[in-house]
Amino acid sequence: MVNDEWGFPREQRGAMKITNLTSVVVGAGMRNWVFVKITTDEGIVGWGEATTEWRTHSVVGALEDFGPIVVGQDPFRIEHLWQTMHRGQFWKGGLVTMSAISGIDQALHDVKAQALGVPIYDLLGGRVRDEIRMYDHLGGGAPEMVYGNLPAERAAEVAVQSVEAGFDAVKILPVPVVGALPTGADLRHAHDTMAAVRAAVGPDVDIMVDLHGRCTPAGAAEFARRLRDHRPWFIEEPCPPELVDELPSIAACGVPLALGERLVGRSEFLGVLKTGAVAVIQPDVCHCGGISELRRIAALAETFGVSVAPHNPLGPIATAHNLHFAAATPNFLIQEQMRNAVPWYDDVVDGALVVRNGKTAIPDGPGLGLAVVESEAAKHPFVADEQIMSTHADGSVADW
Ligand SMILES: [Mg+2]
Repeated sequence: MVNDEWGFPREQRGAMKITNLTSVVVGAGMRNWVFVKITTDEGIVGWGEATTEWRTHSVVGALEDFGPIVVGQDPFRIEHLWQTMHRGQFWKGGLVTMSAISGIDQALHDVKAQALGVPIYDLLGGRVRDEIRMYDHLGGGAPEMVYGNLPAERAAEVAVQSVEAGFDAVKILPVPVVGALPTGADLRHAHDTMAAVRAAVGPDVDIMVDLHGRCTPAGAAEFARRLRDHRPWFIEEPCPPELVDELPSIAACGVPLALGERLVGRSEFLGVLKTGAVAVIQPDVCHCGGISELRRIAALAETFGVSVAPHNPLGPIATAHNLHFAAATPNFLIQEQMRNAVPWYDDVVDGALVVRNGKTAIPDGPGLGLAVVESEAAKHPFVADEQIMSTHADGSVADW
């Protein structure tokens, strides 16, 4: 590189160029994983994930729209490309666009870290911890758990299976789809499930309770008061995420609150943080704006004394990116993983995650330290998403 008389470079660094941006869709049971592949003229391939349930074609289309913007650019300029894909566009934000940006941003981090011969977490300031605490998504992915209808004894069994698989924190969904106010039967089911799980796993396993945004604020408060004595570690998405102003009244019931899996971009998180009602935020690296925006959201949360527990029922590439974030982020709390999504979870990548005593090791890299095995991925093509809709007893549409 030639410098001018002031010492500034005359030419952009530009040794490497992005040559292609493509997606690989993998039908993985409950959802399609959308892996994002960036190739470069130096042969380095970076991987990200933009999985967005029920919006697979939309996200793949958004990735195609970003192709002409990204191809030909320098993959080292991650922030510049992020700004180009967000600020530089007339239509900004939204779930689909931000999910596409998220996958691209992750893949750029993988490319750059590989090129520098370091793990991604070293691009983020380096390790701040030696191991990463993990928890198992809703019964390890038991589909019945998602609907909140799992009998109490069965919920206890799947929680014990998670503990036996090495976890010391589990998340359950004991609250069924309810009307504006829960019935006595709804409250009993939630209480009995929580009590059975607490009795089965003992006092020292942390139990997170996901209300899935399916309650009104008044209903969520009823459940919070009913479950409080069994020490839920936190209650997640107590009401639909747009009801930000109602969060303090639910928090006043005496349980820590968590939410954020359906929020994208730092501004949406700022609105929640300013309520002072949440203990934990749960951004998803596949939706919130990638590693770059996840780090900014975490820094914002840190200024409010709030922890970060990234949402992640998605594929192995998203899990790996989350681990790099966790390694380098001081106010990280715990990482979700959907261990039993499909029996071949680890087969589509060239590595496997091992959880022992509730913890996993920091990935080594270089880069992400994990790549998609495309020949294995091709064995599981796109499958139409299962359409899920819940109704109340009178046939009206319910939040689920
Ligand atoms: Mg949730």
